[in-house]
Amino acid sequence: MIFQNNKIQFKLIALIVLCGVAISCKDDANTIELPSPEVAIVEEVDRFEFGFNLNDFVVVRDTIKRGDSFGEILERNKIGYPKIFNIVEKAKDSFDIRRLQIGKPYTLLCSKDSLQLPQCFIYQPNRENYVVINFQDSIHAYTSKKPIKYVERVAQGVITSNISEALDSQGLSVQLAYKMADDIYAWTIDFNRLQKGDRFKVIYTDKYIDDSIYAGVDNIKAAYFEHKNVPLYAFEFETDSVKGITDYFNEEAKNLRRAFLRAPVSFSRVSSRYNLRRRIAYYGNKIRPHKGTDFAAKVGTPIMATANGTVVKASYTRGNGNYIKIKHNATYSTQYLHMQKRKSRVGDFVKQGDVIGWVGMTGNTGGPHVCYRFWKNGRQVDPFKQKLPEAKPISNSLKTKYLEFIESLKAQLDSIEFLEDKFEKMEVLDGQILIDDKNSVTK
Ligand SMILES: [Zn+2]
Repeated sequence: MIFQNNKIQFKLIALIVLCGVAISCKDDANTIELPSPEVAIVEEVDRFEFGFNLNDFVVVRDTIKRGDSFGEILERNKIGYPKIFNIVEKAKDSFDIRRLQIGKPYTLLCSKDSLQLPQCFIYQPNRENYVVINFQDSIHAYTSKKPIKYVERVAQGVITSNISEALDSQGLSVQLAYKMADDIYAWTIDFNRLQKGDRFKVIYTDKYIDDSIYAGVDNIKAAYFEHKNVPLYAFEFETDSVKGITDYFNEEAKNLRRAFLRAPVSFSRVSSRYNLRRRIAYYGNKIRPHKGTDFAAKVGTPIMATANGTVVKASYTRGNGNYIKIKHNATYSTQYLHMQKRKSRVGDFVKQGDVIGWVGMTGNTGGPHVCYRFWKNGRQVDPFKQKLPEAKPISNSLKTKYLEFIESLKAQLDSIEFLEDKFEKMEVLDGQILIDDKNSVTK
């Protein structure tokens, strides 16, 4: 996990000997002691980027501005039009120079002589890819990718208020929370209702572009989540190497996915549950059954289909506002109300997790939320009370391979110690024990 920048090579450019002139006037009361002669070494570090040693050029970096064109950028940098035309002609098969987008970075590599003429134009449509138009000698253009590095890391945390805070306080990416909530435990843990004392451990990979630019959490390989004291292991495993399909399974090779997501919005709050005996003061305390589950979330929050299915209704009524109904199979349908905007249309086949619209407050509603209605055999039921079907289990032929595969990962997970446990243990031990900042024990 130590960062190694194998691209930096140190070159000794010069040895400068600084000779301090030692003046000593022993008779003088104000003797100044000068430093003894020393040798300073000036190092020049090769800076490789885009496959060039940047030290060989004067580097001009900028972003595409409104009204900029490839021609204008070069012209501003002292390249004449016949040459620009020539470059555009030769480069057009590799890159359409009209596709430069406002705000994207570009780099000009210019000659180091007094003219400082551009020799190379590099455009970055995104963080990973770049386009090089090289006109140093002959003209050629190509697209390339920056080197990407993955670094495996482990993390652990305890929930005191919410998961983002548990990650934040340790300087960990909140993406870890999203990945756990959406990709791994969306079917088993309601992240809106985590409990104080719930805790987790993860083995994951971080992604870096060009060795040093952090590009976020790439993947979670294994996780352990203790929710209400129930341990839930998750290991990522490839079930189809041809299609590259991976899934998360527990320590007994059971799929963590269910046919339905627990909620149609991530990180929302259940503001009203399914309740057939709900009384509302506004209506004179009469029973007004609530057959949906309300998830409060900000206007514009994406609403996801909780299971695969076909959109059978996408419409507007005064009560429901903008709404969508999905038929999943002969038994189940789900409905999503008060959308700001619908994304799907009648007849669309949607997959679990697909965005079908956005949270709003259309129709009869007091605040932004999605009213989620769960239908079983034509009747509305409480989704939280259903024993929902499991997703496809691991095949028998793969099960042995899976159990072998997770053995070392599980051992690694189990060996990660929760910091709170460590501190407790220390308290139990000698009162003299000190804890240094690396959490190791010194007596
Ligand atoms: Zn509702």
